[in-house]
Amino acid sequence: MKKTKLQRPTGMHDVLGEEQEYFQKIHDAVKEVVNFYHFKKIITPILEETELFVKGTGAFTDIVEKEMFSLHTKGGDHLSLRPEGTPGVVRSYIEHGMKNLPQPVKFWYFGPFFRYERPQAGRYRQFHQAGLEVIGEKNAVVDVQVIQIFYSILKKLKFKNLLIEINSLGDSQCRPNYRRLLVRYLKSRENLLCPDCKRRLKENPLRILDCKEEKCQEVVSDAPQMVDHLCDECKLHFKEVLEFLDEVGIPYYLNPYLVRGLDYYTRTVFEIIEEGENRSQGTLIAGGRYDNLIKLLGGKDTPACGGAMGVERVINALKNKKISLFQPSVPEIYLAQLGVLAKRKSLKLLENFRTAKIPVSESFSKDSLGVQLGIASKMGVKYALIFGQKEALEDSIIIRNMKTSRQDTVKIANVIKEIRKRLKK
Ligand code: ATP
Ligand code: MG
Repeated sequence: MKKTKLQRPTGMHDVLGEEQEYFQKIHDAVKEVVNFYHFKKIITPILEETELFVKGTGAFTDIVEKEMFSLHTKGGDHLSLRPEGTPGVVRSYIEHGMKNLPQPVKFWYFGPFFRYERPQAGRYRQFHQAGLEVIGEKNAVVDVQVIQIFYSILKKLKFKNLLIEINSLGDSQCRPNYRRLLVRYLKSRENLLCPDCKRRLKENPLRILDCKEEKCQEVVSDAPQMVDHLCDECKLHFKEVLEFLDEVGIPYYLNPYLVRGLDYYTRTVFEIIEEGENRSQGTLIAGGRYDNLIKLLGGKDTPACGGAMGVERVINALKNKKISLFQPSVPEIYLAQLGVLAKRKSLKLLENFRTAKIPVSESFSKDSLGVQLGIASKMGVKYALIFGQKEALEDSIIIRNMKTSRQDTVKIANVIKEIRKRLKK
């Protein structure tokens, strides 16, 4: 049998090297901002019952129709790798009776998600999202806070020309009316729609507004718009969202065709993109309000709002713009050792530096002092600590200034203090 080379699954990638550093930076930026706003971290299972997504995300969405990784367990359970975060968080909220906590409950998450999509730039089968969910509050101020938090995170990551696209999808009172109007209009032009949209006309007509095909966009440009058909409550809610956005000075663009790919959205939907970028691969963050979802999944009627950031999309955008988030850190100290006793004592000494929070580099597996000092000089450290046989016996150590070559011998017990003095730490 021919031996095939093992490789990663299509559309999935290893997070290595520079990408790993970007991941860490993004995670830290998200964590810092959401902590300020008192969001609690939540980790839900990577697998959930398939039914959760069929009900929650929606049976006629692209995600559930085409993009899920689903499996049957040996015990007969039907599970799917989570394609998005909101249904799992809502399931957890209901399952743990969180309605009894002070509302709203505010969660954030950061983790992998899976969609069986055609891999291309900015589109993977395993990708990561950082998400927010605020459950138990209907006030428009929450919608704006979610947007504001994501906006601040991107600003922190040095993004400049950001654009918020926003729309309202109404609620169960006004959307059915609008849907009828839209279907009536689209039916009159059905022959001009792409095959996908012809199908959507029956199952999910609102999605047609979002179709990327040019001929569909032309049809849509004359279609009735949801914003003109909102009920009074939804109109007021949307007005408040826009007023709050004005108040915090976040620039937005009202996009009447923004509908988002998930069924559960009500009222506010938004996307954050970079100005001038292509929306199909350039949407960095997307979200909205989902006032019907908690009840739909078996909980009490509870309003909620949230959103999610595509971590790989953010990394790609940073790389494209050559935004570097890190200065390479040059280690300042190198510990060189010679002889068995010194090597043994170096293990303990290195730990002492770690607890003193002073970074030290070493190559303990090397025995030659010359080789070690060569490494130290290549690294560009300021000081090398030389721990030879004689020093190990006398509990002393040499501090060598790599620039001036000056060497001082100090007691081992004082070396941290002496290094601190030299580094002015
Ligand atoms: P799109 O229209 O780009 O397919 P979506 O509506 O499916 O996006 P959401 O479900 O709202 O996206 O996910 C939120 C964010 O997660 C997106 O804005 C994007 O940044 C990211 N994202 C979604 N799908 C992928 C994917 N397959 N690969 C990488 N990132 C993704
Ligand atoms: Mg998608």
